[in-house]
Amino acid sequence: MTGPSVSEPSAPESPVPEPPQSSAPDPRLVERVRVHVYREFAATGRPPTVLGVADRLGLRPLEAAAAFDALHAARHLVLDADRRILIAHPFAGIPLRFSVMGARTLWWGGCAWDSFAIPHLVSDEPTVLVATTCPNCFTPHAWVVSRDAPPAGQQVAHFLVPVARIWDDVVRSCGNQSIFCSEGCVSAWLSATGQERGYVMSLETLWLLARGWYAGRLDTPYERREPTRAAEYFASIGLSGSFWGLPDAGRPNAGLPDAEAGPGVSGSPAPS
Ligand SMILES: [Zn+2]
Ligand SMILES: [Zn+2]
Repeated sequence: MTGPSVSEPSAPESPVPEPPQSSAPDPRLVERVRVHVYREFAATGRPPTVLGVADRLGLRPLEAAAAFDALHAARHLVLDADRRILIAHPFAGIPLRFSVMGARTLWWGGCAWDSFAIPHLVSDEPTVLVATTCPNCFTPHAWVVSRDAPPAGQQVAHFLVPVARIWDDVVRSCGNQSIFCSEGCVSAWLSATGQERGYVMSLETLWLLARGWYAGRLDTPYERREPTRAAEYFASIGLSGSFWGLPDAGRPNAGLPDAEAGPGVSGSPAPS
């Protein structure tokens, strides 16, 4: 890191200039920005900004903006139109129904999956309090989630959007990976909202899913999971069926990832 050198005074006519469309930023710079963003988000609970990152890393705002765009395109970040970070999985910059409180840090957990993942990823926050409300009846629920074992509880997680479709609208998908009081509350909510049932799992399965999913994300370099490895990961914790891009249980060759994957989905599942 070169330290905060000359942080460019925002030119009045163009505070955050638009990067030229054609110039792809240096991949090493993009990775440097990625890991900085993730580590700062992990440490503070708040999403870094383009200008903040430029200042901290001694970059021109234009370089930082181009790196943010590249990270958005590669699905390492989810940005809004003003390049604010909405989600840097498993951290969220906006409320999506979950809070995650560590000993020193408070985060918005993006969803059930992300919230349960944070204690596994943030090395000095091994135990957190995850809180949410049932989307159906608004009963409050909270669990102490640690790395040692799944939290006790009869509640169930319901994921609405199949993994192949998660990135069609990732904020909606994340916002619909919820925890309900029971199967009964899932069914009541689905019929009240006119939606198809997605996938229901126990808190134990949710914890297993979250445990290793984001491993390495605070390290550099970091390689995203490829689809085949994601399928292996899902299968390794006992998931099956087309919702996960896997064969149904007992049907070894059915339902593998294929052309059903929607536009822009092939090549990078990295869901949640
Ligand atoms: Zn409920
Ligand atoms: Zn999520």
